[in-house]
Amino acid sequence: MTTPGKAVRVVIVGGGTAGWMTAAAIARLLPHRASVHLVESEAIGIVGVGEATLPHIRFFNERLGIPEAEFMALTRATFKLGIEFRDWGRIGDSYIHPFGTFGSGKGAIDFHHYWSRLSRAGAPLPPLDDLSYACTLARQGRFAHPQADPGQLAGTFGYAYQFDAQLFAPYLRGLAERAGVVRTDGIVTAVERDGDTGDIRAITLADGTRIEGDLFIDCSGFRSLLVGGAMEEPFEDWAHWLPADRAVAMPCRTETAVTPYTSAIAMPAGWRWRIPLQHRTGNGYVYASAFVGDDEARDALVAAVEGEPLAELRLLRFRAGRRRRSWVGNCVAIGLASGFLEPLESTSIYLVQQAITALVELFPDGAPSPPDRDEFNRVIDLEYDRIRDFLILHYHATTRSDSPFWDYVRTMTIPDSLAEKLDLWRRRGRVVKYREGVFLDASWVAVYLGQGIMPEGWDPRADASDPVAVHRGIAALRQEIAADVAARPDHRGFLDRYCPMTDAA
Ligand SMILES: Cc1cc2nc3c(=O)[nH]c(=O)nc-3n(C[C@H](O)[C@H](O)[C@H](O)COP(=O)(O)OP(=O)(O)OC[C@H]3O[C@@H](n4cnc5c(N)ncnc54)[C@H](O)[C@@H]3O)c2cc1C
Repeated sequence: MTTPGKAVRVVIVGGGTAGWMTAAAIARLLPHRASVHLVESEAIGIVGVGEATLPHIRFFNERLGIPEAEFMALTRATFKLGIEFRDWGRIGDSYIHPFGTFGSGKGAIDFHHYWSRLSRAGAPLPPLDDLSYACTLARQGRFAHPQADPGQLAGTFGYAYQFDAQLFAPYLRGLAERAGVVRTDGIVTAVERDGDTGDIRAITLADGTRIEGDLFIDCSGFRSLLVGGAMEEPFEDWAHWLPADRAVAMPCRTETAVTPYTSAIAMPAGWRWRIPLQHRTGNGYVYASAFVGDDEARDALVAAVEGEPLAELRLLRFRAGRRRRSWVGNCVAIGLASGFLEPLESTSIYLVQQAITALVELFPDGAPSPPDRDEFNRVIDLEYDRIRDFLILHYHATTRSDSPFWDYVRTMTIPDSLAEKLDLWRRRGRVVKYREGVFLDASWVAVYLGQGIMPEGWDPRADASDPVAVHRGIAALRQEIAADVAARPDHRGFLDRYCPMTDAA
């Protein structure tokens, strides 16, 4: 039992990306409120995939005082301006979901309303990607940091990183240990709970070591040792909406340009990722085992990778869904221990970050209080639900009928929350507004239009402008973006100057 005002003894089980991000954040942000002990098992290891991120990670790094160039050099990172989706709406399609806006970002209403109006009127329009600074930068393989002024075209985008997942956790470990985190290598074999409250009192390792704590954080990955195991919190299964449950992964030598974006290429029973890093390219095929066998999936990935393989193929198994509650009693699940949504939009590390932020903001002073726990669980549920809907949209918004997998996802029943979003979009091109949660308007617009769902209506204010003038404005904007982007450096050259890869000292 903790006493208000006394340092809370935090015990973290797991030293993957989630464990070390959590340890580093608590130690750096709450040094006066907590002591942190992390237990991990080198014998078990970490999942070691998870290479593409969302722009939010920059704010996490900034809050922890992580210098960008050093972090990128040590994790062999590249810049990421968005995700290219190939063959999703129809075979042959390609669009980018950018970390940035469409249009100049200056209009009174969102650019896509003008776009939809002209398009419905049959006006010849350039590809939507050409009207996004981020997409154009990505397509041309260039990179420069965004300008601070969002009124400038070169200020209308954000960026994230693509990094080596095996190097990120060790990097954070160094940071956390310097901030006072104690680490033990061992396998947790028993969890002791309080007979009255049900809270966790201590964990015991295989060598008999007993570690007591006030707050336990379950970062044990898919095992979910504490929240799923000891606390028996049920798992909500979303496989009927997101049937992919396996991936084969294999890095290869980079034979082509180091693109400043991740690619997600649709396959007969799922999709394939391509994530270029400084020293290699990560590849994987995420698939639904109900629709394709492991051997066939392996062969398909091997046939598709573009460079010499650098390691054996790895098979990973997972289930889409989440623990009904992530914070139960005095135990909080963060990372894969809390749930998993397939990596199509690179959201797992983002979810780790959001859980850490909420935990730090609601950090207990004494025993965790039920309202704090409820608020934490509400925030995490919202994040999961919104990401889930966004992912389902990618599968459902397709005209593909070339395999049983695509037939299934195209015709499946979708959650009511997504059906409402789609209805509003179809009728008036409106993206449902929310203040919490990732993926704001431009993200939804990119996927809706990229996968061929053209709205029938638009914001009525778009009708007030002269269509000829709007058309001319679009052509001018396209040229302005192209000219500005052409003056930016090549991505590889930028990396070589700014953060050439290096090994930890
Ligand atoms: C195919 C695939 C692709 C992915 N791609 C992306 C991506 O592009 N972007 C993204 O954001 N995320 C991605 N993810 C998710 C990402 O990999 C994880 O969210 C991230 O690595 C965090 O994992 P973790 O720390 O929760 O678990 P793990 O890395 O599995 O760590 C679990 C830790 O718990 C320890 N442990 C387990 N049991 C015990 C025990 N009994 N005793 C002691 N220690 C124990 C392990 O040793 C390890 O240290 C992907 C996941 C998969 C499966």
